[in-house]
Amino acid sequence: MSRKTLVLAEAKNGELRNVSFESIGAAKQIADGGEIVAVLAGDTVRDLAKTLFAYGADRVIAVENDALKHYTTDGFKQAFLQVFDKENPDAVVLGHTSIGKDVSPRLAVKMDAALFSDVVAIEGLHFTRPIYSGKAFEKRTTQSEKMIVTIRPNNIVAPEKDETKTGDVETVAVDIRDLRIIVKEVVKKATGGVDLSEANVIVAGGRGVKSADGFKPLEELAELLGGAIGASRGACDAEYCDYSLQIGQTGKVVTPDLYFAIGLSGAIQHLAGMSNSKVIVAINKDPEAPIFEVADYGIVGDLFEIVPLLTEELRNVLV
Ligand code: FAD
Repeated sequence: MSRKTLVLAEAKNGELRNVSFESIGAAKQIADGGEIVAVLAGDTVRDLAKTLFAYGADRVIAVENDALKHYTTDGFKQAFLQVFDKENPDAVVLGHTSIGKDVSPRLAVKMDAALFSDVVAIEGLHFTRPIYSGKAFEKRTTQSEKMIVTIRPNNIVAPEKDETKTGDVETVAVDIRDLRIIVKEVVKKATGGVDLSEANVIVAGGRGVKSADGFKPLEELAELLGGAIGASRGACDAEYCDYSLQIGQTGKVVTPDLYFAIGLSGAIQHLAGMSNSKVIVAINKDPEAPIFEVADYGIVGDLFEIVPLLTEELRNVLV
């Protein structure tokens, strides 16, 4: 049965997020030949939205309103619901990002839809999602006619970009009112570098780095590989780095192609955030550290000797 499927795309720092393209990939499976309509909301997003055609959207809608300049729950919920009223979708796909996690249950209630969150794989209408902090996976389906699916970034393959696919971006005017929160300004934290939740390479440090300065060799390795810095809660609690870098059950959940776990023990709460990484390299001086149980490659030794050596070797190969 074909389903009209809406993709709620997301932009960050003036660029579409990869998970928006992955959402189109997911939508193709759910739509089963039905129309795929990509929706981008913001204050001025028309030009940016055009790219969504190249990833396979049949139609693209820009929802522009000054009140949508920054994300607010009320504003985006109202905007999306007004688009739903016009489009009457059978299914909606969006990223399992901070925004997706916040807005999707509210939309599901209003749409009277089944909600599948944090989906990592899709086969027909069977959705696979991690449970028990990633220790197991469950596969779910629904008899409901309406559904909303949030997909975990970096798991579902985005369609190949095809620049020849293009079209006219439609606009939908929305009426946003009674906002309980107004965002006046967003001040970015000076963490810089690559966005952790979408990075292909992550170099994560734990309490073993011993100080904020101890992250320096890890930063050099991350920079060489175009990767992002991450951390265990141990490192954050010890004030070696900012909590925005924390990976795990109570931090960010990541699935990069390559994850370096350096000077961190591999506590179950940390594994919950990274054990689905494609290749895990652990560096730890304790051969019994639990991180080695999930690692594809393990190096036993002092990180302050190994990381600079590794960076130097990789530099010889890569640069
Ligand atoms: P440690 O366990 O102290 O490990 C440090 C490691 O560094 C050791 O294995 C040691 O052998 C190694 N080491 C030391 N020196 C060197 C060296 N020179 N070279 C190489 N290796 C060295 N933790 C998270 O990470 N993320 C979470 O989201 C999270 N959520 C939690 C939620 C709850 C409810 C609770 C109770 C805990 C949570 N934790 C979380 C904390 C978690 O249980 C661990 O305490 C924490 O992950 C430990 O951090 P660590 O591995 O850096 O430190």
